[in-house]
Amino acid sequence: MNSIALDIQNVIKIYNNGFKALDNVSFQVFKGEFFGLSGPNGAGKTTLISSIASLSNPTSGSIHVLGYDTQKDSNHSKMNLGVVPQELVFDPFFTVKEVLSYQSGYYGIKNNDQWIEEILEQLGLLSKINDNTRSLSGGMKRRLMVAQALVHKPPVIILDEPTAGVDVELRQSLWVFIKKLNQQGHTIILTTHYLEEAEQLCDRIAFMKKGQLIALDETEKLLAVDEQIHVSFTCHENISPLIAHFNYQHEKNKWSFELNNYAQVEHLLHIINTNQVTISNLGIMEKDLEQVFLSLIQ
Ligand code: ADP
Repeated sequence: MNSIALDIQNVIKIYNNGFKALDNVSFQVFKGEFFGLSGPNGAGKTTLISSIASLSNPTSGSIHVLGYDTQKDSNHSKMNLGVVPQELVFDPFFTVKEVLSYQSGYYGIKNNDQWIEEILEQLGLLSKINDNTRSLSGGMKRRLMVAQALVHKPPVIILDEPTAGVDVELRQSLWVFIKKLNQQGHTIILTTHYLEEAEQLCDRIAFMKKGQLIALDETEKLLAVDEQIHVSFTCHENISPLIAHFNYQHEKNKWSFELNNYAQVEHLLHIINTNQVTISNLGIMEKDLEQVFLSLIQ
């Protein structure tokens, strides 16, 4: 059985003004994966998601959602896909239930009340089912966007910065729900600026920059690549002869080291101690995804 949920091959997107927003992007997301897509603003993430959602066509290349071509067979690819977009857009005259019923109708699904109520329950919105969307708070509107993307029980779910501007509590409850969907077999693709979130949730993470895919690996491996320990301190003496065998940089009185393990940290501090060198502002920091990301985008 084919295990690929999303297949992106050589996708190029050149906007009408000649700007190349996607520059030969290729990668695959496996069924059941929790996949992260990250990168700085302007990297091309939204452009890529629009192409996956058949909202805009790539200039060249192909995208398949569960085997369905997003350009040639967009009806099928859309049926298999639920996208939670960044911006909040609702018709202010409809109730929560109406929004979700109309959305179901759009996918040709009738009598969807049971599922609609279940999603609203899971998202803590059931008590608002008959409320007008304009009366909802920002966080509730965000949850309704998630509900809207799920009315047709799509096997592949894309969340575009779903927790941007959302309070911590909602973020947590949203993740409990999304994780549950993932455990039930849904493939989740998440774009996020919160790398801590990506680190905790995603099996693999892709980084984009200037329209290109610059890294893609298992989250653990991405973190392991830069498993260095960063040590820095201030020292007014010239300690270069003492530390020649370490990987270090120094500028004025600030010395910084990239060490591979804590034995090296100990060794360094031992040298400092035994030579009675005076240091201050000692900082020891392990790399996290944020730093991997920063070193990638630099
Ligand atoms: P991201 O979501 O990673 O922030 P986007 O996909 O929104 O990146 O944008 C990628 C690049 O494409 C940006 O430089 C943006 O200005 C440009 N871009 C986006 N939409 C258009 C458009 N309709 N016409 C021209 N350029 C665009």
